Amino acid sequence: MKTLGLIGGMSWESTAIYYQHINKAIQQRLGGFHSAKIILSSVNFAEIEQLQRQNLWHVAGEQLKSEALRLQHAGADAIVLCTNTMHLVAPQIEDALSIPFLHIIDATAAAICQQDIQCVGLLGTSFTMEQPFYTTRLQEHGLVVKQPDAASRAEIHRVIYEELCQGQVIAASKQHYVDVIKQLKQQGAEAIILGCTEIGMLLPDASILDLPLFDTTHIHIATAVEFALSR
Ligand code: GLU
Repeated sequence: MKTLGLIGGMSWESTAIYYQHINKAIQQRLGGFHSAKIILSSVNFAEIEQLQRQNLWHVAGEQLKSEALRLQHAGADAIVLCTNTMHLVAPQIEDALSIPFLHIIDATAAAICQQDIQCVGLLGTSFTMEQPFYTTRLQEHGLVVKQPDAASRAEIHRVIYEELCQGQVIAASKQHYVDVIKQLKQQGAEAIILGCTEIGMLLPDASILDLPLFDTTHIHIATAVEFALSR
């Protein structure tokens, strides 16, 4: 089995989901006492969040690059960056590595394209929804991307940082997300990307809505598991 190098802590709430579900999947696939080979570098999110707010993406990228190199030197066979937002600096990390970087947007786009869906709604932090890195990469996979309106984006972002990253799941916030998803559907979205690794905590039950939800956390986990078990 290959060793996965996870860069987590952004937030640790969702990194815990990665750790648990990667191990569960390996145990289900191999049985018995099998579990995943993981090296985890969990950063202090307060430092990263401050750099995001100050628009110091390159500085944050350098920090995550050094975590990735640390994992590579420690014997990781691939890097899994457990956050959508920080894929903004993915090129900075990837360029420094000699091992694969399992890109969350590529994994998500591949899962969507397998289902013959063309138009998706995107939920995530304001960085993910508004800066070009995410939407452009989805478009390169042939997808049409719809974003919520400005007021909805601000509220979605607030809920991620003030509630979900702090481990709080609040019913009124869930209702807001559901309302936004309905609006995106009216605008032609055939599916919704949960483009933030904490949103699944709020919307665990896809069946409450009559359109498919692509949870980037679980798609990324599945990609990591396939890599770990590949020859
Ligand atoms: N985990 C989140 C994401 O997937 C947000 C926290 C962060 O900014 O990294 O985008």
